[in-house]
Amino acid sequence: MSTTLEHRLLHVEERIRQACERSGRNRDEIQIIAVTKYVSLATTREALDRGLHHLGENRWQDAQVKWNAISGSGQAEEGQPVWHFIGSLQSNKAKDVIGKFTYIHSLDRLSLAEAINKRASQLDIVVPCFIQVNVSGENSKQGLAPEQLFDFVSQLRSYRFIKPVGLMTMAPYEAEPEQTRPVFKALRELRDKLNRRSEAMGTITHLSMGMSNDFEVAIEEGATWIRLGTILVGKEED
Ligand SMILES: *Cc1c(COP(=O)(O)O)cnc(C)c1O
Repeated sequence: MSTTLEHRLLHVEERIRQACERSGRNRDEIQIIAVTKYVSLATTREALDRGLHHLGENRWQDAQVKWNAISGSGQAEEGQPVWHFIGSLQSNKAKDVIGKFTYIHSLDRLSLAEAINKRASQLDIVVPCFIQVNVSGENSKQGLAPEQLFDFVSQLRSYRFIKPVGLMTMAPYEAEPEQTRPVFKALRELRDKLNRRSEAMGTITHLSMGMSNDFEVAIEEGATWIRLGTILVGKEED
C-alpha cells in the first residue's frame, strides 16, 4: 500500500483539525467524501482500506467500473462504501445511478426531481438529496439561483421518494482560498433562513461544500460534508 495516501490523509486531517479549532467546531460534525473521479479502481480500494468509506463520483460512465467491482455483487458486505453522486445529472441518467448512489448532491430542477422520484418509487427507496445552489452566480456553475430556493423546496414536498437533506455549492476556484468565504457563508445563511420556514421540514440541515482548494474556509463556515479529490486521493493520468 502506498504511503502517499496515508500521508495525504494525515495531512488533511491535521488541516481539518485546525480549521475546527479556529471555528470552535467538533471534528465529528464533518464528514469527508473521497472524490475518486480522477483515480483508478486500485486507488479507490486503497482509500476504502484507509477507512474513507464515503466515495464521490461525478459521472456514471467513469464511475461504473469502480462501482461494479466494489459494490456490484449485490451483497451488503461489511465495509461497503456509501456512494455520493456529486456531478450534474441528466434526467435520463437518473435510472443508472438511483439505487447505486446513496446520496445525490446535484438536485437543481424539478425535471430531475421527477426522474429521481420515479426511479426511487420503482425501487421503493427514499433518496437523500442535496439541493445545489449557484451562490456565486457564475455561468459555468450548475444550481438554482438563491432566490429560487424556497419555492423549489416547497415544490419538492410532492416527491415522496426524495428527502432533501442539505444544500450543496461549488465556489469558484480562487488562488487565495479566503476569497471563497462569502460563497460558503451565503450557503449557510440560506440554510438557516430556510429552516426558519416550514418548507424545510426540519431535514435540510447539511452543507456539502469545500473541495481541495477551499475546504478549510468551508469548514469554518459550517460545512458538514467536504468533497476532496486531488488533495486526498490524488489525480492520476489514464
Ligand atoms: C471534482 C469535484 C470535487 C473534488 O475536486 P478537488 O478539487 O479535486 O478536490 C468536489 N466536488 C465536485 C462537485 C467535483 O466535481
